[in-house]
Amino acid sequence: MANRMPVIFFGHGNPMNAISENHYTRAWAEIGRTIPQPDAILSISAHWYIPATAVTAMSKPRTIHDFGGFPPELYRVSYPAAGDAALARRVQTLLAPVSVDLDQEWGLDHGTWSVLCHVFPHADVSVVQLSLDETQPPSFHFDLAKNLAPLRSENVLIVGSGNVVHNLHAYAWGRHQVQAFDWAVRFEAEVRKMIHSRNYSPLIDYESLGRDAILSVPTPDHYLPLLYVLSLSRKEDVVTFATEGFDGGSVSMLTVRFG
Ligand code: ZN
Repeated sequence: MANRMPVIFFGHGNPMNAISENHYTRAWAEIGRTIPQPDAILSISAHWYIPATAVTAMSKPRTIHDFGGFPPELYRVSYPAAGDAALARRVQTLLAPVSVDLDQEWGLDHGTWSVLCHVFPHADVSVVQLSLDETQPPSFHFDLAKNLAPLRSENVLIVGSGNVVHNLHAYAWGRHQVQAFDWAVRFEAEVRKMIHSRNYSPLIDYESLGRDAILSVPTPDHYLPLLYVLSLSRKEDVVTFATEGFDGGSVSMLTVRFG
């Protein structure tokens, strides 16, 4: 049996993590030091949320600084990982008959590079991004992801980058040491419990989980990458949470790793 790469959901949180050293970024770096070296990475980032399914297919994806109001040094960060046109075409084939555009315009957004700059600081593994089709329901994303399963045996590391809880309306910008909101803590605990029991149906249908879910996931973009990772997990994968905690009271920094 071929070795399978892990599949990992990263809670990326604040873009400043790219140029910070903290307990999240140290744990991300530790993952990079301890997992088998992949040939390529397929990243599903919250920040490429468009009305289509697309993969980046250029040989040199640009580093996109898709945020505003941060210090100049963050805009100077470059993550010069190569693209991988062959992997882009492989994804296109695997996802058929869903139409997948081979994109030449996007690149690597901060959902991808703010984490990978710690996991693979030398940017020596090629990276392809897969978009999230904003017109589709959560079940579409979960089902679509299943088709990517062979990549785990082809030495491709699949990562989802978002946040299990992501409510910027409640986020404590510029304030330190705020306590996490009780709805955020409860929802994250519920998610972990369902992950441990591999009870994914309620997580796909998260909008039916009540007020805590609505507050924790006010928009789907940061949550949907988790569904890709859950869908690609196998029952024999050990599940671990390399980072946990809340940033600004309303952003869960949970990492969910299978395998
Ligand atoms: Zn984000």
